[in-house]
Amino acid sequence: NVSRLLGKTVLITGASSGIGAATALLFAKAGSNVILVARRADALKSVADACVAAHKESGVTQGGKFATIQADVADKDQVASILDKIPSDLKAVDVLVNNAGFVKGIEHIGDIADADMEGMFATNVLGLIRLTQIFVKEFKARNSGHVINLGSVAGREAYAGGGIYCATKFAVSAFNGSLLKELVNTPIRVTEIQPGMVETEFSIVRFRGDTDRAKTVYDGMQPLVATDIAEEILWVASRPPHVNIAEMLIFPVNQA
Ligand code: NDP
Repeated sequence: NVSRLLGKTVLITGASSGIGAATALLFAKAGSNVILVARRADALKSVADACVAAHKESGVTQGGKFATIQADVADKDQVASILDKIPSDLKAVDVLVNNAGFVKGIEHIGDIADADMEGMFATNVLGLIRLTQIFVKEFKARNSGHVINLGSVAGREAYAGGGIYCATKFAVSAFNGSLLKELVNTPIRVTEIQPGMVETEFSIVRFRGDTDRAKTVYDGMQPLVATDIAEEILWVASRPPHVNIAEMLIFPVNQA
């Protein structure tokens, strides 16, 4: 029942494209306020403009406040400044969606560039953890809140060529599991979303911009689209307050 999302405030990292952008749009339609975080200011603005239009079109009167924060979640200081950059009327965040993440290079572990390895850990793991630390403190003070972390099927089953990315997503899963246990008996909810193949910019970043190689991954199959995952994130966030969806694995029918 998405009416539970009316007037709620959601902060989404990696909201400038793919799953994050689709999730922002659906929360906007559901009458929530959304704070969009990513590095590309122009792309963030386009998504925020689309959120304004979607909210207007929905006819819902609650929510409809949108803010963009340009920040690199791989940078410790930039993560630390996110809370201060939230406009005063949106400070009380109800849902944190830790979605920013990427894989660069599907190659032998020995061939992964050091900078890419550091980037993946700094973004997919440390950025997610630091932001969670900040918001769990906020949620504890307000006695409510929901952390939704983007893991992956790659955090359940490692594959050849994905050594570093899989390691980051296994780390997300371990972190999520600990957090869940630490927050048991509190009203703060913790969820890990584990998508299978979703066709987004992720698919192209994975092969360092080689779009032809990116397409071959989906030969003979129908991958998920960003909205498929966004719908599940909204479903998870809109369960009654006593229900916590700890993890959710989502595949296209062609994947198992
Ligand atoms: P996209 O590439 O479309 O989106 C990734 C988003 O993360 C972009 O908005 C990008 O924005 C942002 N981002 C990347 N690095 C940083 C950073 N350092 N600081 C802030 N924002 C950053 O990919 P998806 O939507 O597909 O991916 C979203 C999440 O889903 C990721 O965590 C990914 O691992 C996970 N996932 C994706 C799957 C797929 O098949 N697509 C499968 C399983 C999990 P900007 O460049 O503007 O900073």
